[in-house]
Amino acid sequence: MSKFTAPVKKNDVVEVTAEDLTHEGLGVAKVDGYPIFTPNTLPGEKAEIRVVKTQKGYAFGRLQTLISESPDRVEPPCPIYSRCGGCQTQHLSYDGQLRAKQKQVKDLMKKVAKLPDVPVHPTIGMDEHPWNYRNKAQMPVGEQDGKLVAGFYAKRTHEIIDMDHCLIQQEKNDEVLQIVKAEAERLGVRPYDEKTHKGTLRHVMTRVGRTSGEIMVVLITRTPSFPQKEALVSALTEKISGLTSVVHNINNKRTNVIFGEETNTLWGADVIYDNIGDIRFAISARSFYQINSVQTKVLYDKALEYAQLTGEENVIDAYCGIGTISLFLAQQAKHVYGVEIVPEAIEDAKVNAKLNNISNATFEAGPAEVVIPNWYKNGITADVLVVDPPRKGCDQALLDTIMAMKPKRVVYVSCNPATLARDLRVLEDGGYKTVKVQPVDMFPQTSHVEAVAMLTLK
Ligand code: SAH
Repeated sequence: MSKFTAPVKKNDVVEVTAEDLTHEGLGVAKVDGYPIFTPNTLPGEKAEIRVVKTQKGYAFGRLQTLISESPDRVEPPCPIYSRCGGCQTQHLSYDGQLRAKQKQVKDLMKKVAKLPDVPVHPTIGMDEHPWNYRNKAQMPVGEQDGKLVAGFYAKRTHEIIDMDHCLIQQEKNDEVLQIVKAEAERLGVRPYDEKTHKGTLRHVMTRVGRTSGEIMVVLITRTPSFPQKEALVSALTEKISGLTSVVHNINNKRTNVIFGEETNTLWGADVIYDNIGDIRFAISARSFYQINSVQTKVLYDKALEYAQLTGEENVIDAYCGIGTISLFLAQQAKHVYGVEIVPEAIEDAKVNAKLNNISNATFEAGPAEVVIPNWYKNGITADVLVVDPPRKGCDQALLDTIMAMKPKRVVYVSCNPATLARDLRVLEDGGYKTVKVQPVDMFPQTSHVEAVAMLTLK
């Protein structure tokens, strides 16, 4: 065995040409086939970089001098872009971002799914203003120089960057967050300290209903009661115009996980509402809800198109959240069965079916990989099956059940093209053909990629 030696070492300064972008938005250049990942370099750009870290199969670089500039390079409008970990591609034109996302999906289809010829359509982007789209802000709270700060984590750290404006948030979220910060500071509510596990306020989440304008604030604290709790709630209700709900979640664990088990409404309603197309959704604090309401319509329309429903089908919607896709599908199906692991989300889904007078949708709480095999055992099968799993993709037990159940179509909605590609390979080997893949941009200015795939039984 020969010992591997990297062609570059730490602190070397080399001239490279970036060829590609990683899924984290880093430029990839190669020296003798050895990849170097450098932030703020774009495909086609020649740059002088300094090697900052070498690993067995790759290295990281820092941009020293840009020698030639990509026609896709733009000036990032956000003043904290270079420090903040929230966005990764503000230095790339929006059109360039859409092309990069399509390419990323295409590359994974080839390398991981072994489907070099499957059509991957151009990414459907936001028609106008790919900014201010997030309906939810989730900010860690901490203390810096004796002051309460809240914002984003700096890239790859837990250092909080205090923030007043986030260019991808709906403006109302910024406004609400500033008020929560100011009032918590004024009343002396202690920020949580990760290191000592002391203090009170850990995170603030705000969510706005795009169509309703309703606002929910969720305070995540270490302890159930804390000094100035009532005063804080009453200050928020006074100062935040349009506020409809203040929710409290308690997380007393030493963990990076934001939410704890216990959730109580402190003031107002338990849910806020938002419309997607003609359907109205109640959304509670703990439920997943797509963060870009404009593009969600595009995504769900695509899923519905790929499902090719005639009104005769039984449909299963796995990982259904608050029943969003389920209720879209129910309008054109015989019956829809939704399954989701978060019980609060299933409660929302049931409310949402009633709210929209949809009676042909039923929901069950539990892991999709347990509930769907049970359904199958009990004679519930699907003509069309939709999955929309979290980043880690579908559980093998679920894929096995799909391949045994043999729905004639599978629509796979994915927020991680790497696990999408992995699962498509499994389904291809199990009798399915991937007909086409459509990336939809849900997360402009970031490197997150959403895609929908249509599969048919061979
Ligand atoms: N289709 C929904 C939700 C998609 S997000 C929408 O578009 O709004 C993925 C969902 O899967 C989340 O609601 C998450 O709580 C749920 N989830 C995660 N693991 C799961 C599992 N093993 N079984 C069922 N649902 C799961």
